[in-house]
Amino acid sequence: MRAKEIRNTFIEFFKTKQHSFVPSSPIVVKNDPTLMFTNAGMNQFKDYFLGNETPKVNRVANSQKCLRVSGKHNDLEEVGVDTYHHTMFEMLGNWSFGDYFKKEAIEWAWELLTQVYKLPKDRLYVSVFGGDPQDELDKDMEAFDLWKSIVDEERIIFGSKKDNFWEMGDTGPCGPCSEIHIDLRSEDEIAQVSGKSLVNEDHPQVIEIWNLVFMQFNRQSDGSLNPLPATHVDTGMGFERLVRAIQGKTSNYDTDVFMPFIAELEKKSGKKYGQEEKLDIAFRVVVDHIRAIAFTIADGQLPSNNKAGYVIRRILRRAVRYGYTFLGFNKPFINELMPLLAENFGEMFPEIASQQDFIAKVIFEEESSFLRTLENGLKRLEQIRAELKDNKEQVIDGKTAFELYDTYGFPLDLTSLIARENDLSVDEKGFQTEMEKQKTRSRSAAEQETGDWVLVNEDNGVEFVGYDSLEADTKILRYREIKEKKGTKYQVVLETTPFYAESGGQVGDKGLLQSEEEKIKVVDTKRENDLIVHFVDKLPANPSVAFHAQVDARKRSFTMNNHTATHLLQSALKTVLGEHVQQKGSLVNDQLLRFDFSHFSKMTEEEIQRVESLVNEKIRENIQLDEKRDVPIQEAEAMGATALFGEKYGDFVRVITFGSDYSVELCGGTHVPSTGKIGYFKIVSESSIASGVRRIEAITANAAEDYINQQLALVKEVQEILRNPKDLKKAVEMLISEKNELKKEIEALHVGQAAGIKEELKKQVQQQAGVNVLVSQVNLPSADALKKLAFELKNELAPIVAVLAADIQGKPQVAVIIDEELVKDKGLNAGQIVRDLAKEIQGGGGGQPFFATAGGKKIEGLPAVVEKAKSLFANLK
Ligand code: ATP
Ligand code: MG
Repeated sequence: MRAKEIRNTFIEFFKTKQHSFVPSSPIVVKNDPTLMFTNAGMNQFKDYFLGNETPKVNRVANSQKCLRVSGKHNDLEEVGVDTYHHTMFEMLGNWSFGDYFKKEAIEWAWELLTQVYKLPKDRLYVSVFGGDPQDELDKDMEAFDLWKSIVDEERIIFGSKKDNFWEMGDTGPCGPCSEIHIDLRSEDEIAQVSGKSLVNEDHPQVIEIWNLVFMQFNRQSDGSLNPLPATHVDTGMGFERLVRAIQGKTSNYDTDVFMPFIAELEKKSGKKYGQEEKLDIAFRVVVDHIRAIAFTIADGQLPSNNKAGYVIRRILRRAVRYGYTFLGFNKPFINELMPLLAENFGEMFPEIASQQDFIAKVIFEEESSFLRTLENGLKRLEQIRAELKDNKEQVIDGKTAFELYDTYGFPLDLTSLIARENDLSVDEKGFQTEMEKQKTRSRSAAEQETGDWVLVNEDNGVEFVGYDSLEADTKILRYREIKEKKGTKYQVVLETTPFYAESGGQVGDKGLLQSEEEKIKVVDTKRENDLIVHFVDKLPANPSVAFHAQVDARKRSFTMNNHTATHLLQSALKTVLGEHVQQKGSLVNDQLLRFDFSHFSKMTEEEIQRVESLVNEKIRENIQLDEKRDVPIQEAEAMGATALFGEKYGDFVRVITFGSDYSVELCGGTHVPSTGKIGYFKIVSESSIASGVRRIEAITANAAEDYINQQLALVKEVQEILRNPKDLKKAVEMLISEKNELKKEIEALHVGQAAGIKEELKKQVQQQAGVNVLVSQVNLPSADALKKLAFELKNELAPIVAVLAADIQGKPQVAVIIDEELVKDKGLNAGQIVRDLAKEIQGGGGGQPFFATAGGKKIEGLPAVVEKAKSLFANLK
C-alpha cells in the first residue's frame, strides 16, 4: 500500500464508524500562550476538552501536521540520528468528544491495524497504565480487561506514569493511555530476545505507533486531579511510522514518504545513501527538515531571530550545516527540493503547492545568509586554533564555543567536529554553562505564574455581540491573576461581551466595565483558544454582581476604518501587482494599518500611486458592507473568498464583501457600514521586511487628513522662507545650482590664495647647514589646504625642514615637514616634534617621521609655536 492510500484508508475506516473528517489545523499556533507549534492532534480540540466550547459533532477523524522541536515535546536531537523521530510529522487520529470511550477506541484500533492494514498480530504489543501512588491512581483495569478480550494476555504490558499517562501540559485535561507498539526486527533477532522486553526501551525496531488516550481528569495548578465532566478519546498515530510498518521497512526513510527526496539528494550531491552512517544521518536530516521548514513557512511563520521564527531558523541551519559538512553542499540547495515537495504533498496540503515559489525564495535567502556566516565562523575557528597553538591543553573553552554558537550560528556538535579534526577538544560543560546562563537570562524575564480560574457565575457559554453593539449588560463568569516580574495582570471572562479580541491583525478593544459600585478599565482584549479574555486594571471587589460593558467607541471606529481599508488595499494590490500577492501579516489599530504581502520587488512610485488611487476610488464609491455570518466554508470558497494560509477556519465562516467583484474575504474583524466613512486613504511607506515580503503602512480618515495638512504646511513654510516665489520647485533648484556655483568659485579662490601664500613662504626660507628651513604662521581655509601646501613645499624646496603654524578659520593647527633624507641623516622626527609643539596650542597629534600634524584649542599659542620651532632648528647642523 502506498502512503497516500494508507492515509485515506485511515480516514475512510473511521468514516464507516460515523466519524467526520476535519482538516489539519495550521502548524503555527495562534491564540495560545502555552504553545508555539501544534505538537499533537489534540491541540485544535483543546477547547472541547476544557469545556470552553461545544463540538458540533462528537466523532472526528483527522491527519494533523505536528512539529516537535520545542517545549514539552522536543525530538530535534534524535531526528536523523534515529530513523523514526521527525521534526514535522503527520498524526492520524480518531476522536470522541463525550461520546464513545475505551471499549470502542480499543476495538477499532485493533480492527484497523490487524484486519484492514493486516499488520501481523504476533508483532504487536499493547501497554496499559499501571497506576501511580502519588496521584492515588490504580491500574487501568478497564483498559486491561478490554484488551484481554482481543489480545493474548502475554502481549499486554503495564506501563509507568511517564509512558502511560498523557498530559496536555502542566495543567489541563489528562488521563491514562494505551500504546500500541510494533516489533519490526528479523525472525532471527526475535528468536534471541523477546520483543516484549524491548517495548519502550528506545530500540530502533521496536517502536510505538499509536497512542490511545482516555481523557478523564483535569490537572489543577496545585497538582491535584479533578474528574472531567465528560470523558473523551484522543488517539494519535504517527503516519510515517505506520507507513513503514505496513510497507515492511526498517526505517521511516525507506518508505515512499521520503525516498523521492533521498533519491533527489543523491543526484545533487553525487553521494549514495546507505553506505556510511555519517552521510546517512545528513541525508535523513535534510529530507526531514525540508518538510518542517516548508510547512511552517507555508503557514505564515517566517524565519527570524526570536520565538517561533528562531526555531525555524535553527532547524534550517541544522540542515544546511549537515549538507555542507557531509554532503559537500557549499551553495544553497534545500530550496531546490521545493518542487518535489509540492508534487508529493501538494494534494493533501494545498498551501504547499500554491506557495512553492515563495517558500523556495525564503529558504534560498536563509541558506545563502547562513552559508556566509558559516564560512566566517570557520575562519574564526581557524583563528582560535592559531591562538591555541602554544597552549598545552588544546581545549576550546566554553565561552568561545558559545560565541561560535551565538554569533555564527554554529551548533556545538559542529564546533566539536572541527575541533577533533584539528586535534583539539571543546569544553562542552563550559558551553552548557554559558547556554544555561543565557537561558536563565531570557527565562527570568518572561517567567509568569498563572493562577487557576476562579469561577463566579454559572457558565453557559460566552457570547460575542460586538459586531452589532458596543455595549452590553453582562456578568463575570470567571477571573484569574497572572503574576509576572513586571507586575500582576488581571483577566476576566464575560458572559456577553461587545469587546473584540485581538485577532486577524486587528487589535483588541479597550473600554470600561461598570457595576453600581465600581468602574474597571479594560486595557486589552485577547483570545485564548476560543475564550475571550479581558485584561483589566484591577479585579472587581464584588465580581458576582451585574456589570455593564462598554467599548471605547472612538478607538473602535478608527480601527474599523483601517480594517476595511486593509481589505480594499489587498484587492488593489492584486489588481495592480498581480494575483501572486498573498497576505503575510497585518496590523490594524486606531492609528494605522500595516499590511505585509508576498511580492518580489520594490513597488515603483507609479504602482504605489495606482494602488492608492484605486483604494480611494472604492472609498468614494461608498460601497455598502455585505456581512454574512455562518456561511458554510465550501460556499465561501465558491464565492471566491480570499482566505489566509495558516489561519484556522471552522466549518462555518464569516464573509466580508465590499463589492462582490472587488473584495470578498473570510474575516472575523469589524468593518465600516460603507466605505465612504473611511474618508481618505494614504500610503506612508513601502519597504521590505524579509526576502520576498513587502510591507505597506497606510493611514486613513482624520490621520490621513492630518498627514496631508502637515505636508502642505511644510511646503508653505518653505515657501515663506524663500519669500513666496511663484514657482517653488524652480526656486529650490535655482538655490541649489547657485550654491554649487559658489562652491566652485570658493575653491578656485582657495587655490589662488594658497599659491600666493606659498610664494610668500618661499621668500622666508633660510638656508642652514645645506637645509631649507622654514618656520611661519599662516592663515588657511582648511586642514586639507594645509596638507596640500605642506607637500608642495616639500617637493619644491627639498631638502626641507618646515613648521607651519596655521590659523584655520579660528582653529590652531601645526604641520611639520621633514625631508626623508634628513629623517635618516639628522635623526629628525616630525611626529615627535609636532607633539612637542602642540603643547603650546593645548593640543595633540602625530603622524609619520616625515610628516605630522596636530590640532589644538589655544589659537593664541601659535606665535609660541613659531618661537619654539625656530629655537629647535637654530642649532641644526
Ligand atoms: P516516542 O516515545 O516514540 O517519542 P511519544 O510517546 O512521544 O512517542 P505520542 O506523544 O504518544 O508519542 O504521539 C503519538 C504518536 O505519534 C506516537 O505513537 C508516534 O507514532 C507518533 N510520533 C510521536 N513523536 C513523533 C516524532 N517525533 N516523529 C514521528 N512520529 C512521532
Ligand atoms: Mg516522544
